[in-house]
Amino acid sequence: MSRLTSRINPHIYRVARAIRGRTQPNAALGSPSPYAQWHGPDAAAARTPILVCTSVADIVLLQGCAPTGAELAIELDSEQTTHPVTHRFPHPDTPLGPRRCFEMTFDRSSAGSATRARLVADGTAGGWVAIPELPKPGAMTGAEHIERCPACTRSDFAAAGRRQHLVMVTCQTCGLMMTNPRPIEDHTLVRYSERYFDEEYLPSQQLTPALTTHIDSILDHVEPVKRPGASLFELGVGGGNLLARAAERGWLVSGTDVNPASIAHGESRGLNVWLENADHADTLQGPYDAVISEMSLEHVRRPEHFCALAAADLAPGGRLVIYTVSAEGESFEQSGMASPLVGPAEHLFLFSAGSLVAMCEAVGLRVDTVWRNHTGDEIGIVASKRRDIANPGVPRR
Ligand SMILES: [Zn+2]
Repeated sequence: MSRLTSRINPHIYRVARAIRGRTQPNAALGSPSPYAQWHGPDAAAARTPILVCTSVADIVLLQGCAPTGAELAIELDSEQTTHPVTHRFPHPDTPLGPRRCFEMTFDRSSAGSATRARLVADGTAGGWVAIPELPKPGAMTGAEHIERCPACTRSDFAAAGRRQHLVMVTCQTCGLMMTNPRPIEDHTLVRYSERYFDEEYLPSQQLTPALTTHIDSILDHVEPVKRPGASLFELGVGGGNLLARAAERGWLVSGTDVNPASIAHGESRGLNVWLENADHADTLQGPYDAVISEMSLEHVRRPEHFCALAAADLAPGGRLVIYTVSAEGESFEQSGMASPLVGPAEHLFLFSAGSLVAMCEAVGLRVDTVWRNHTGDEIGIVASKRRDIANPGVPRR
């Protein structure tokens, strides 16, 4: 019996969409793009069931779109039984529309000898779709294993759960949750495209009063170290709202991002930003009076390296502020791996208070404040560079 599970969260299949963008077209469908079939407007309007089958690592992903109300099941050619599709959700292009879409995954190794799958809608079977071959069942391709916790360096991990293609584990010492094993960097960087920036990211950055209030609350943490000519650096500038606001408040601002579209956008706003991947940087080009990572550290591969860079590039007395996502809040408590915070191909880390403190203290910074938002799903830390301790420098790989 195959172990089939349903996946219904829109956030996570946006993540899957980035991965799927690299996969080969499914020849059995005769279509140049699974994306066009499954995510495009044609899919939203489809009257006949659509099934797309792809695989990443050892996980087979079935996605489809079918008329509202139809009873759906997946049939594998190796079995006599079908597997009901129990969860449906609206098409992403029409988020308020009917629940027409579904997503299911199963372990390739548990699919036995199955080579094809098909969708059965109200008892009528659609065409067979090939299940992609895998080089070795059970083995993830293009994976990178984390041997030691980046925050506390211990190796005592416990499985936290599985989401779609990936497993997350929690460090039993400091509470850091991480995707492990994780896709190699070339695969995770695919996410940060121009399309992602324009269509998904930027629309979420409309400068509402609430967002302005949030940005100001972050900047308030570095206000005490602002002096005439004070400099502020941001990791992951995104749409540039924080830097623009900091400039208004009198800071000399600069920052980096891994997405060229973000840099182009920031330059169009007159910001001093450059394309750089902090995971490979030797310096942040400081010194700065303030270094800020606001909702970016969960995306980087080496958060401890960023802390080292920040510590090295802060002026004595300067402050580091990290604001990020946490698995210690209500969302994870109530929903576990189904939480919208969980997107293991994109959010490579979900931070704990212990892990943030450990990373800051490991590079010689003094932890001043740790705080959370009202749900506990977001967590912040302020750490200062002491004036009486020499520059710790940046450890090499
Ligand atoms: Zn740890």
